[in-house]
Amino acid sequence: MPPSDPLLEGFRRFQQQYFDASTDLFGQLRHGQHPVTLVIACCDSRVHPASLTGSAPGEMFVVRNVANLVPPCSPDNQHASVAAALEFAVLNLQVARIIVMGHAGCGGIRALMQRSTPSDSALSRWLDIAAPARDQVWRRHAAEDEATRLRRCEQAGILVSLNNLLTYPWLADRIRQGRLTLDGWYFDLNDGALWGLDAPSGQFQPLVCPLGG
Ligand SMILES: [Zn+2]
Repeated sequence: MPPSDPLLEGFRRFQQQYFDASTDLFGQLRHGQHPVTLVIACCDSRVHPASLTGSAPGEMFVVRNVANLVPPCSPDNQHASVAAALEFAVLNLQVARIIVMGHAGCGGIRALMQRSTPSDSALSRWLDIAAPARDQVWRRHAAEDEATRLRRCEQAGILVSLNNLLTYPWLADRIRQGRLTLDGWYFDLNDGALWGLDAPSGQFQPLVCPLGG
């Protein structure tokens, strides 16, 4: 008998949870999706937006990429996959909320700060989107220890992506019309806390404190 595949075992549990006649969530979802929220998160295996927020299938449209980045709007956009997902989520699905979710211990941000990837690599070109965050941290906080600089860059990268979202005119229009809101979240996987960007101050404040904190 072949060894069991834990992923197939997981799928069977998923099937029972969502396709069982008593719940049959997909009885509705098979006719279409109407997610309210778009989350832009990192590829990191520890940062799973639906798990982190207890979201069921159909509730959350998710874009994941290295370091949770949004490229600025550009006619010759070389990073069109994110722009295409934005268009689909905002113009077709008409999500009401976009969350850019960064996290502690981000390998992409570490590579950006340390310039540890070959400059002609796809990863390096991608991470260049957050170069303004890196440059700002080095300019203002060069004297701090590395862990603090990385945390600052992880959070500054979220701000870069939020500002880049505003360069898409149809997206900015919806925000002006009150049909769409933006949030910046930062998951600290060291202590389990969730931080949120306070837009007026540009600082991150605790949204959910660590257990026992
Ligand atoms: Zn990451």
